[in-house]
Amino acid sequence: MRVLITGAAGFLGSHLTDRFIADGHSVVGLDNFITGHPDNIAHLIGHDRFTFIRHNISEFTYVAGELDGVLHFASPASPIDYLKLPIQTLKVGSLGTHNALGIALAKKARFFLASTSEVYGDPLVHPQPETYWGNVNPVGPRGVYDEAKRFAEALTMAYHRSHGVDTRIVRIFNTYGPRMRPFDGRVVSNFIVQALANAPITMYGDGSQTRSFCYVSDEVEGIYRLFMKGDAQPTNIGNPVEFTVRQLAELVIELTGASSAIVSRPLPEDDPKVRKPDITKARTTLGWEPSVDLREGVKRTIEFFRGLVGTPRMQERA
Ligand code: UDP
Repeated sequence: MRVLITGAAGFLGSHLTDRFIADGHSVVGLDNFITGHPDNIAHLIGHDRFTFIRHNISEFTYVAGELDGVLHFASPASPIDYLKLPIQTLKVGSLGTHNALGIALAKKARFFLASTSEVYGDPLVHPQPETYWGNVNPVGPRGVYDEAKRFAEALTMAYHRSHGVDTRIVRIFNTYGPRMRPFDGRVVSNFIVQALANAPITMYGDGSQTRSFCYVSDEVEGIYRLFMKGDAQPTNIGNPVEFTVRQLAELVIELTGASSAIVSRPLPEDDPKVRKPDITKARTTLGWEPSVDLREGVKRTIEFFRGLVGTPRMQERA
């Protein structure tokens, strides 16, 4: 296959690109580096099955040659990024999705949308099955991401129903691992970077809010299987083992051996209190479930960030 991956220099996009290349496919990677990083694809430059286009998918995009798949992974995805880039976030979820769907239609390619557990907002149903419609504040600070992705899902289904495009939608739950940016702002990277510097661990609120963290190799495996054999309705891909933020802070301190204290900081507005995927659909239709537990995944992620200590990447703030 020859596939286009938008956001190919991002955290998930680059791991997904590696996965397609490893299976013998060709990848056209597209990224504008507003939150992605050239380091994530440096090892692919010069590979005969990888080409790269530096471009913003929110603007008209021409891609030469045949394509079998278009995977739309471009978007700011960390709360601090989409708070800083609210218009770009709305544009890439709306105009970017429209452009990516247009490419898929023109090339008769399968379209794959990277959606998010944020479509469930601050959920009133727990755990969240795909049939839950969510509890989203459209005008709050997170609305720019949540509503962009909800619109992207609606547009994807419209192209499926009206134009017969073969489509997939994955709802991605909190994912972590190597290639996250040190100052990405998300909880796993923040805590590890803080612990490696023996700096205070910034727990927002009282740390009782929960998340279910999926290691990146598990997430990419689920996405790859969904692309290959899933159906058009949304599918949750995430790790259903739930932790409090405080538990994560304690685990990071234990595994790094840091002398950091845990300090409380204000809880961001509309921060979801709980989040945990119901993965029955992925288990039954894709035969997929995660295999890397949090302890093992955090250890591997600590090693990645240890490798960045003392390099310019550790100074790059968002
Ligand atoms: N969080 C925290 N300290 C940090 C960063 C995040 O306590 O330095 C909390 C945040 O308030 C949320 C959870 O960790 O409850 C996950 O936040 P993240 O930004 O990773 O992703 P989200 O799931 O909110 O999109």
